[in-house]
Amino acid sequence: MEKTLIIIKPGAIQRELIGEVLTRFERKGLQLCGIKMMQLTDEILDEHYSHLAQRSFFQRIKDGMMITPVIVCCLKGVDAVHIVHTMAGKTNGREAIQGTIRGDFSMSVQENIIHTSDTLENAEAELARFFKKDEIFDFKANNLHFVYANDEL
Ligand code: ADP
Repeated sequence: MEKTLIIIKPGAIQRELIGEVLTRFERKGLQLCGIKMMQLTDEILDEHYSHLAQRSFFQRIKDGMMITPVIVCCLKGVDAVHIVHTMAGKTNGREAIQGTIRGDFSMSVQENIIHTSDTLENAEAELARFFKKDEIFDFKANNLHFVYANDEL
């Protein structure tokens, strides 16, 4: 099964949407195997958003990610990277379709509630960036045979 990273951003913390966001992933059938609150720093955000380093809004998005602590989570499931990324919706909350997290809770490009890894390669790198090895719990969920058919596992 794949593992992927989500970050519940400061805007969602301030708007008290942590439970709402996590509930969506739980209801979908994704397994939570790591969760913590952490204060991000300029250094970790330089790495995390390095693909945006040349953009005019680089410092602004980093500052926005440090306003409050964030919640980082590791979610596990079959095709988890694609599923979780799709559930977040398009970057711009005004364009994201209804039913996605950003479509339902965001009116902004920057203030878009959640980060999700976009590829398996990035998920692995991002999980290693935000979690120590012993903070990921690879336990066997006891509902797997109700979430998946045998041949999907
Ligand atoms: P995503 O988070 O959808 O994978 P990106 O990796 O392109 O998108 O951007 C990272 C984050 O930077 C976005 O989630 C958003 O908060 C912010 N961002 C991206 N593009 C813009 C923009 N044009 N203006 C302001 N903030 C932006």
